[in-house]
Amino acid sequence: MCSGRVDLAFVLKAFSVGMDGVFIGGCRLDECNYVTHGNYHALNMVLLCRKLMEHIGLNPERLKIEFMSGAEANLFVEGVNGFVKKVKALGPLGEGEGIDRNQLKSSLAEISKLVPYLKLVNQEKLASRLKTHEEYDGLFTKDEIDRLFREMVSYYIDPDKCQACMTCLRRCPVEAIVGGKNRIHVIDQDKCIKCGTCLEVCPPRFEAVKKFSGEPVPPSIPEAQRTIVRKGKEKGEKA
Ligand code: SF4
Ligand code: SF4
Repeated sequence: MCSGRVDLAFVLKAFSVGMDGVFIGGCRLDECNYVTHGNYHALNMVLLCRKLMEHIGLNPERLKIEFMSGAEANLFVEGVNGFVKKVKALGPLGEGEGIDRNQLKSSLAEISKLVPYLKLVNQEKLASRLKTHEEYDGLFTKDEIDRLFREMVSYYIDPDKCQACMTCLRRCPVEAIVGGKNRIHVIDQDKCIKCGTCLEVCPPRFEAVKKFSGEPVPPSIPEAQRTIVRKGKEKGEKA
């Protein structure tokens, strides 16, 4: 019902399944019936997504947002027709840009996986309501997005410090932490959405979770070496 409901993930999904273009129609700016002004959110999301598209080599013209009222069917028809014509001229997704199909698939998958992180680090900008075209032109820049990926954060559990308290495992929103009782916990980097919760909740007396920025995390400790042998047990004492 509201263009503000069109999530970044929906747009990336459309491209991931091979759509050549995505058109979003929203109500006129400043004419929203609600205090939320979701159409501003949709506009900000589109501007972010267009920069992400540029980052992976896709033509940002493949994503368009237009604003119109329910009484302006003519604008809708003109907007869609013009967009379809433009997308046809651009050619099939990726082919028109000369990107290898597998490369495009993996770039889209990588960015889709990072949607929660991208929304988190850009939440202030995504919620903004700017006034001028100039302000909007500078809301997201390609340099900023390139830097974001260059300095991408990762989280890692130091095996020498983890005490298997299981707090991070219980709080991770995507079950990216592998662990258990008396088992050194590790992060499955393929599942991690970089929310930072594990860093926040790991008790300060352990400080086992580390944040890395722009550099790869060390490999996880092998499964066979993850059991924590407590001192009492080592001597054969009962727990
Ligand atoms: S940053 Fe930590 S809590 Fe967040 S998804 Fe990754 S492993 Fe889970
Ligand atoms: S919260 Fe910290 S100490 Fe506890 S299991 Fe997670 S990484 Fe280990």
